[in-house]
Amino acid sequence: MTETTAIQTVGIIGAGTMGNGIAQICAAAGLTVVMTDISDEAVARGLKTVGGSLDRLVKKEKLTAEAREAALALITATTDTSKLASCDLVIEAATENETLKVKILKDLCAIVKPDALIATNTSSISITKLAAATDRPDRFIGMHFFNPVPMMALLELIRGLQTSDATLATAEAFAKRVGKAPITAKNSPGFAVNRILCPMINEAIFALQEGIASAEDIDSGMKLGCNHPIGPLALADLIGLDTMLFVMNVFYDGFNDPKYRPAPLLKEMVDAGHLGRKTGKGFFDYAK
Ligand code: NAD
Repeated sequence: MTETTAIQTVGIIGAGTMGNGIAQICAAAGLTVVMTDISDEAVARGLKTVGGSLDRLVKKEKLTAEAREAALALITATTDTSKLASCDLVIEAATENETLKVKILKDLCAIVKPDALIATNTSSISITKLAAATDRPDRFIGMHFFNPVPMMALLELIRGLQTSDATLATAEAFAKRVGKAPITAKNSPGFAVNRILCPMINEAIFALQEGIASAEDIDSGMKLGCNHPIGPLALADLIGLDTMLFVMNVFYDGFNDPKYRPAPLLKEMVDAGHLGRKTGKGFFDYAK
């Protein structure tokens, strides 16, 4: 296979929130999928989520029952990583931990074909650094999918310093094949989308903390005045305030620039255990 040959078989490492969503869109596009995780339970959970998500599409008449079966038949879900040997592209979507990802990538290089592409769905780790952990840094790229993967139109492609033009071209063709619109960003903390989104949310938290406007009015203002589908504070609650704090700290450390300092109120909320929807309370109350 040359680098620009179309991808036919996709490996996905990690069957969690993002991994099973990526598996679903690849199989729905007719690609053969090998989805791996560390335990039988995680693999089964991932496959069950794909089945449930495809069921909902059938109920909404966006997919036929035959297409659902055909997509599921294309997915091999396994703990056996040697099955990744047949893949043209492997997308790493395991837990966000640099040491773990480096180990996964090193192990993977010993398994996959020498000309296979490797991608990572990391949100916050340097693509250049992860590429350097592989035996093929030119054939390595960031593929930053958005949650929930089957619903969100964007695929943000991130070039590490070493990523070749041919790898980017193959990744763009793959994005379109699985129904996503690609944009390209250089490797940098937050890439393009989160670099813009997260400081905007952080600023909304500063505005709340300073008593500029109520949480309700800040969100209404951004929805009605800027046509955002969801207000910044409700979005923070959805993302998780712990994740928001983590991302702002990545920017703060990565750029050494005080403009990225997390809002003190964000830290307070995390210290209080008010993490957003997942704990029932964030800037808004979800207990009901
Ligand atoms: P998750 O916790 O839902 O799933 C991670 C999965 O990885 C788990 O099933 C876990 O068992 C598995 N895993 C851990 N170690 C593994 C290993 N050695 N081999 C194979 N599988 C292993 O996490 P997630 O939300 O799906 O996030 C995955 C990646 O996607 C992270 O890098 C994250 O930063 C990124 N991401 C997440 C989102 C989001 O909104 N959740 C959005 C964009 C990118």
